[in-house]
Amino acid sequence: MLTAPGPVPSVTTPGPVVALDIGGTKIAGALVDAAGGILARSRRPTPAREDAETVLGAVEAVLADLAASPLWSAAGAVGIGSAGPVDAVRGTVSPVNVPGWRDFPLVERVRRLTGGRPVSLVGDGVAMTAAEHWLGAARGHDNALCLVVSTGVGGGLVLGGRLHPGPTGNAGHIGHLSVDLAGDPCACGGRGCVERLAAGPHLARHALDGGWRPGPDGDASAAAVARAAGAGHPAALAAFERAARALAAGIAATAHLVEIDVAVVGGGVAGAGEVLFAPLRRALADYATLSFARGLTVVPAATGTDAGLLGAAAAARA
Ligand SMILES: [Zn+2]
Repeated sequence: MLTAPGPVPSVTTPGPVVALDIGGTKIAGALVDAAGGILARSRRPTPAREDAETVLGAVEAVLADLAASPLWSAAGAVGIGSAGPVDAVRGTVSPVNVPGWRDFPLVERVRRLTGGRPVSLVGDGVAMTAAEHWLGAARGHDNALCLVVSTGVGGGLVLGGRLHPGPTGNAGHIGHLSVDLAGDPCACGGRGCVERLAAGPHLARHALDGGWRPGPDGDASAAAVARAAGAGHPAALAAFERAARALAAGIAATAHLVEIDVAVVGGGVAGAGEVLFAPLRRALADYATLSFARGLTVVPAATGTDAGLLGAAAAARA
């Protein structure tokens, strides 16, 4: 049976869209105009340990704040970028860090909360990629991989000039490419995943194992390891070297598989700057060896803390 397609807003559609960025620690919402301007915004902490309806209550509160804006009535579609896994076909989310939401029908519930507006859903890595392609470091690139390296490693793909979310909204999940066949077990059930080597907590643990110790403030985060690496601490440098090699292997595998010409790296660990990017570029030369991948560049993300909202807005306009 054929069904008539719904209204399909495009990036040139006038009027704002409603963007929701749903993570394990906060739920952010905004009205975003066609140029990426944020016209109104709201956020609430995610009651991540509560039951499903309580978590939805935080989404409802964010939407109520936005609905108080005089621009609300002009807002068309709704875009959601959510911590994953997501299922864009069924409109459900099961964020790892929000146990009350398992196969939670978020699209239908948000549709009801927003007066029947069309709602699109992507994973947070795909949302960040959409934001970087629209307004950030992947702008103008038809084939790009974008990565978020923080407490986990997520990502997304732009292929042939278009965002490639995949059938369920999870494509580009580079954090769970295995780059060490006999490596440590990963939370996903796999082994030797990029995330297991490069995510902030794992990077910091590797530095501790190598003999690095936090300062008097007790800060044992990847940011603290980055400061120590910047000061030349060998174990901190080794931890960043190892993370960089894992990321480079994953990026090179992606480049060889689907041909990308830029890898955009954001997230808290990327905040280390050259402490991460210098070994990453060196390692990439070791792994991205085929002729068509040698021109691949690695650059920092440019859309900052609003990447999730801007990406959700881009998804709504896709
Ligand atoms: Zn994994």
